[in-house]
This record gives sequence, structure tokens and C-alpha cells, in this order.
Amino acid sequence: AAALSTQVQPSAIRSPDIQYNKIFINNEWHDSVSGKTFPTINPATEEVICEVAEGDQADVEKAVKAAKDAFRLGSPWRTMDACDRGVLLNRLADLVARDRNILASLETLDNGKPFGDSFNADLHLTEKCYRYYAGWADKNHGKTIPIGGDHFAYTRHEPVGICGQIIPWNFPLLMQAWKWGPALAMGNVSILKLAEQTPLSGLHMASLIAEAGFPPGVVSVIPGYGPTAGGAIANHNEIDKVAFTGSTEVGKIIAGSVARSNLKRMTLELGGKSPNIVLADADLDYAVDQAQFGLFFNQGQCCCAGSRIFVEEKVYDEFVERSTEKAKLRKVGDPFSAVDQGPQVDSDQFGKILSLIESGKKDGAKLTTGGGRVGDKGYFVEPTVFSDVQDNMRIAKEEIFGPVMQILKFKSIEEVIERAHDTEYGLAASVFTKDLDRAIFLSNSLRAGTVWVNCYDVFDAAAPFGGYKMSGTGRELGEYGLDAYTEVKTVTIKIPQKNS
Ligand code: NAD
Repeated sequence: AAALSTQVQPSAIRSPDIQYNKIFINNEWHDSVSGKTFPTINPATEEVICEVAEGDQADVEKAVKAAKDAFRLGSPWRTMDACDRGVLLNRLADLVARDRNILASLETLDNGKPFGDSFNADLHLTEKCYRYYAGWADKNHGKTIPIGGDHFAYTRHEPVGICGQIIPWNFPLLMQAWKWGPALAMGNVSILKLAEQTPLSGLHMASLIAEAGFPPGVVSVIPGYGPTAGGAIANHNEIDKVAFTGSTEVGKIIAGSVARSNLKRMTLELGGKSPNIVLADADLDYAVDQAQFGLFFNQGQCCCAGSRIFVEEKVYDEFVERSTEKAKLRKVGDPFSAVDQGPQVDSDQFGKILSLIESGKKDGAKLTTGGGRVGDKGYFVEPTVFSDVQDNMRIAKEEIFGPVMQILKFKSIEEVIERAHDTEYGLAASVFTKDLDRAIFLSNSLRAGTVWVNCYDVFDAAAPFGGYKMSGTGRELGEYGLDAYTEVKTVTIKIPQKNS
């Protein structure tokens, strides 16, 4: 069964049955200890979809208890063959494939992303991520080491233990897969907090964890708010690791909690203001296309969005004109119909984006298209393009996380490298050129965790992803992604005589 499913996009389920809206602990559904719930909103209509159990510290305590039991020595999970953890992950991937339409529909309903993107991008990558890490389950192993003296030394790659995982709302299913894949492949246990804006698809995934046959307590899923449920995880003394994806601001809070509690292991995947550098010799139509994809994809709500587009002087005006014309053609509307762009995730993000657009106008950038909301219901923002953007403007410095493109002009390679680096972030970068020398020189020079050359947003579970500077710490995906979920133990044994 373990083959990547290649399904043709079916019609979406516009009003999927919401089967799961509680807290998942020990493979069972629980109300929150406090009895509280919170509403999750359809961003296309601003209407409440349903109420969801609101987890907080007391629920995290319950999950920790379950996790400790699942991770105790001799437990079913600890004594399971490594390859069988891979079998479970492949079974989970099979269930993702089976429920692909339901999951994609829930994602679109709760997040607002176009159904075609949910189905073809998010679900495809999610399934692939589980299959990729299923393969690693029995392959991340230690070494024997020829140390001095009459000794025999070897390393064991052990699970870290209880992993607290806090995910954002922009790619709910995919971020869950990036967290669960390596953690479960390595035999860890997980307590995952969903983003309060988008709890529904992740709760459906919890039901699949039970169906796949993971032992009780190995995975807990807690919907709830950041400072309460998320804070309880980051501050917990019995949680061995925290993996967080979200804003740099909250990343700093998490790092503080880690330092004040038990120095748990920590990986952070934070914001960005990624430079996309277009040289004059690039195929201009293609570069315009890719710049649109790199910025407008997912309503601009990507941590790696190419939001500072540096274009070489000679082709600048042409690039701005073509980008403006292309942005005007983007279809915005009901994410369940054939559109390029749905609503932003919530009213906070919507308001923040519109106010950053205002600051761009005020600071003297030239608005070439867009700039306002679309319609009067739902959090829809017009695809927006600014030209004549200067490095010191807020729109060139702050993460907008919306469909707002900044186009800047540059003259020389040395200048553009310096300006690309003039940011606290270092998540991604890209270069468009036909000149191999300059492509390699630039990709070696740019301080970013990922550099795309003549492409953008190319993701694969096998290729690591993560940030330099304040874009984060550690790497997710690929073989490198296992490190964050592995403790290395050295065992040294005295032997009667060492022989080479
Ligand atoms: P956020 O960082 O507040 O939320 C991300 C996750 O962290 C959510 O699950 C949230 O509940 C949790 N969280 C919030 N406060 C917490 C705390 N004190 N302790 C523990 N967990 C906490 O992001 P946001 O408010 O949803 O969005 C704000 C900005 O963050 C966006 O405009 C965007 O710039 C950025 N962002 C980046 C990413 C990314 O993928 N890097 C994702 C979402 C948002």
C-alpha cells in the first residue's frame, strides 16, 4: 500500500461534517478540563464553523501524564521494532491518502486557502512527508568508534522523549507532518498544539493516529491558545523538547521559557523577509511568474515568501509593468471555487496587512495595483504591488504575511548582496539568472537557510529547511531534520584487550 497516491482532484466537500472538535489524549477524545471552548471562524464568510475544546495548562498536564506512560521503559512504544514505527507512519500516510478530500476540504474551510492548493500542494506534501520519515525509522543508527585503550565504544541514537510541538495556521497539515514525521520515526512521543485559527484538519489527523494503531499516549493533540496551552508546553519541566513554528516574536518568548524551565531541546522555525534577486539576463516572463508564485502563494502567508524582490536596473521598469499586469489577473474569491487567492486567515492578519499597505503608501512607495480589501465580507485583500520601494521602509523590513509585493531596484551584484543581508532574517533567498557563475556566487554568498536558483518554493521532505539569524534555529526535513529528535549516547565498555 505504501506508494504515494496520485489522485485526480475531486470536487471539494463544501460543508464537511465536523466530526472532531475535542482534545485528543490516550487515543480518546476529551473535553477541556476547564470546560471552555472557543469558536473557529470561516475566513471567507466570517461565520463561526463550530466550537472547539479550549486546552490549557490542565490539559497539557493530562497529556504529559499520558506521554510519560507511553514513553516508560518496557512500554509497547519503547519495545516496538524500529521498522514497525515505519509501518505505522506508512499506514498514517495511507489514511491521509484515503481521506485526502475530507482533509483538503477542512483545510480550505478553516484556513481559506484555495481547494486546488489544499488538495494538490498541502495534501501531496503531507503524505510525502510521512512516507519519507517512515523510511528513516530503522535507518538513523549509531556507530562503533575506535577510541584509545582497551575499550569498545559505540553510539546509540535514542529518542529525545516527550516533544512539545507548536504549529501555526498557514500550513496546518503540513506543519503537523514536519513535526510528527521525524519525531515518531525516531520513537519520540508528541504533544502537539494546533493553531487556534485552524484546529480542524489537525484534529481529523488525530483520529487517524488512533486508526493507524499508534499506542495510546504516543500522540496528544491540543487545540487552544498560545499563551495558555502553548506557554504550558514551553514552560513544562517534564517536556524534553519543544519545536515551534510561528513568529519571531513568539519564538523569543519560547526561548525564554526554555531557559527558565528545564533547558529542553529547542527548534524554532520563524519569520522571514526573503530576497528574490532578478538579474537582467534572466528569462523575464519566467522570473515574473516565479516572483508571483513566491509571493502570492497561500495568500502571501508563507514564512519564506519572496517579499523583497530586487530587480536589476536595466529590466526594472519592464518587470514592474509585467508584475502589475499579472497581479491584476489574479482571481480572488470563494476558496471552494476555481480561484488563485482566498481570504487571509483572520481579522488580525487582515487588519495588519491593510495597515502595512497604508504605511507603504505613506512612506512614498508607488502602489501600482491593489491596496484595498475585496468585497465587504471575508478577509479578502487585493493582490497588491509596490514599486520604488526603499530599504528603510516598513514594507521592506517587516514581515507582511499577505499578498503584498515589494519591488526594489539594484545596480550591482555587490550592492544587492549587501542589501539582501540588511535584515534580521535569513530564511530563504532566490536568484534568477542564466549566468552560472553569478548564480553560484550569489547562492554561496547569501545568508539564508535555503537558496532557490531559477525557481521558488520548491519543497521536498528530503531537503532540509530552516533559518539563519532570527529566522530560527535548527533544521526540519531531510536527514538533518532527524537530529532535532535524536539524543546521541556514547557507551564505552572496558574490554580485556583491544585488537585493530
Ligand atoms: P504566532 O507566532 O503567534 O502563532 C504561532 C503558534 O504559536 C500558534 O499555535 C500560537 O497559538 C502559538 N503561540 C502564540 N503565542 C504563544 C506563546 N506565548 N507561547 C507558546 N505558543 C504561543 O503567530 P500569529 O500571531 O498567528 O501570526 C503573527 C505573525 O507571525 C504573522 O503575521 C507572521 O508574520 C508570523 N507567522 C509566521 C509563520 C511561519 O511559518 N514562520 C507562521 C504563522 C505566522
